[in-house]
Amino acid sequence: MDFLKDRFERRLNYVRISITDRCNYRCVYCMPEEGLQWIPHDRIMTYEEIVFLAQVLKGVGVEKIRFTGGEPLVRKGFFPFLDTFSTSVPGVRTVLTTNGSLIPQFIDEISRSGLSGVNVSLDTLDENLFRFITRGGRLQDVIEGVRLLSERTEIPIKINTVLMKGINDSEIKALLDFARSHRAVLRLIEFMPLDDSVWNKDLFIPTSDIMQRLPDPDRWEKLDNSSDHSAGPARYFRNSSTGQRLGLIEAVSHHFCDSCNRLRVSASGIMRPCLFSEEGVFLRPALLSGDAAEVKALILRAVSCKPGSYKQARSGAMHMSRIGG
Ligand code: SAM
Ligand code: SF4
Repeated sequence: MDFLKDRFERRLNYVRISITDRCNYRCVYCMPEEGLQWIPHDRIMTYEEIVFLAQVLKGVGVEKIRFTGGEPLVRKGFFPFLDTFSTSVPGVRTVLTTNGSLIPQFIDEISRSGLSGVNVSLDTLDENLFRFITRGGRLQDVIEGVRLLSERTEIPIKINTVLMKGINDSEIKALLDFARSHRAVLRLIEFMPLDDSVWNKDLFIPTSDIMQRLPDPDRWEKLDNSSDHSAGPARYFRNSSTGQRLGLIEAVSHHFCDSCNRLRVSASGIMRPCLFSEEGVFLRPALLSGDAAEVKALILRAVSCKPGSYKQARSGAMHMSRIGG
């Protein structure tokens, strides 16, 4: 089996695939209030193309695929697609990132899905603030979604919280308690300046500031997660008295480029080697023609332009929902 390696000897074995750019929320840090112009359906990869792409990716050593969006659960046919995926691409682990709002509707399908992880985005436990941040979402749906995941499945759960100064940074204790009581790991994410229409520097707060404000600040010990492939870009801490784990994703203040093992594919079929770069390779024509050798060649081309760090990236950042956040 081949292994994908870039010019900097980083092994790339993890791919995030956005299966739709559409979303039922408009989070303030992700999309403008009026939403985005959705990509027409015929310019989105079909499920068959995604399966084919994953088969080629498996052949070059990819071990894990995250389905993300937009909101993956708004795309019709997602769970039948997952069934096909697991029989057609055996051995590749699948994980999901979701805003959680539709979990109650799909809990039976999720419990049978074979997913090896679900990340739920949840930024606040205050109903009004939740409605403000998501521009109209109902907190109860997500809380119920996390409860069902924790009680009706054994799938590992992570809760992703984008930290915003003066907005939700006072809720860390409440979010830690919520995560703990739902066997979930809380991960605090720095607000990333991805697009001018949503970026607000006044809301940025480095996760290092947060550490000092955690409950029992002296009890959080740093864990060495260098060999833990499910750790992703997070730095993990463990509370020495409760055993609870907490992850920090410091995309802005501590770039994790040295250990980056990922590629991203947008819903329209563009492979992007770096979140902070405008470089991208359009896979769709090769996917449509079913030419595996050409798809592999294009993947290698995308890998060859992966920058060593965000500092070398030719800036062209765009909305998370388009890139496959
Ligand atoms: N809709 C799903 C959700 O919200 O989980 C999946 C897609 S969303 C784009 C994936 C992740 O990107 C979410 O955890 C979201 O919080 C994060 N995200 C979006 N914009 C961000 C930004 N500007 N900075 C940091 N994280 C962001
Ligand atoms: Fe939708 Fe997720 Fe973006 Fe929020 S973060 S608008 S839920 S894609």
